[in-house]
Amino acid sequence: MTWRFALVIDPAAPDDPRSDFAETFTVIDATAPALSVGELSTQRGDGIFESIGVLDGHGQEVQAHLDRLAHSAEICDLPTPNLAQWRQAIALAEAHAEGGAWVIKLILSRGIDHGPAPTAWLTASPAADFTAARESGIRVVTLDRGYDLGVPERAPWLLLGAKTLSYAVNMAALREAKRRGADDAIFVTSDGFVLEAPTASLVLRTGDRFITPAPNGAILHGTTQLSLFEHLEAEGWETAYETIPADSLPGADGAWLLSSLRLAAPIVAIDGAPIPHDAELTASFNRYLLSPRD
Ligand code: PLP
Repeated sequence: MTWRFALVIDPAAPDDPRSDFAETFTVIDATAPALSVGELSTQRGDGIFESIGVLDGHGQEVQAHLDRLAHSAEICDLPTPNLAQWRQAIALAEAHAEGGAWVIKLILSRGIDHGPAPTAWLTASPAADFTAARESGIRVVTLDRGYDLGVPERAPWLLLGAKTLSYAVNMAALREAKRRGADDAIFVTSDGFVLEAPTASLVLRTGDRFITPAPNGAILHGTTQLSLFEHLEAEGWETAYETIPADSLPGADGAWLLSSLRLAAPIVAIDGAPIPHDAELTASFNRYLLSPRD
């Protein structure tokens, strides 16, 4: 990935009354080393992040990403982010994201070991091209996530509903999926319920209904899934959040992985069993997801 823009943010208190946060931003060389060796984000993965898709300079669903950043901060006992400050930082990055698809990443870390404050920064870089996944579809395998559906309530310190920087498990699951000859994975609980993909939400079609696993603390609430559900409802389709048994997956009338950069990737097979793929419906999802969304 080519890093094109990076900004260090001096985090403001959530009730900071300033309307202009310019003096809290320092643009840095995106290709040069910048983090302290004492950073807890790198030492322990102790921090949170967001990845925002940008199309022709327009950040998609910025408010939904900021809301999730604040939610993740709350779960992780990090200081509440000042969302007006982050919004201004995003606007600066958008101005650099000229032409085509970009990704803006927001990172809020616990900070430097024994340091006084969290550290925060933002990067912007051109995004990969996901046209092939959107058009030809992806094959997925189910992988055991190793916990049951009741874990988030019993063990909130696992931070399961937060978008933390600790993605080593998610990346390992993607490698395992590739070893099994697939493109991606769907995590399932040890008691047999569907969760999400390592970097995406899952939406299933059953007849004229579109369903997704309820974000009950075990998974992230995807901004792309939320946006697609709004669109589906506006088009007259029924949508619902449900507890979905993994053994119902092969009977789906359609399935998609949804995320901010790849957008709607149709699933053409789950554990080797073919899933119906309505190419025109998927194309309509991606036309919507590629249009400017707030
Ligand atoms: N679930 C996980 C674990 C993710 O990493 C992501 C992507 O960030 C998503 C779901 C989808 O979220 P979004 O649509 O906001 O990109």
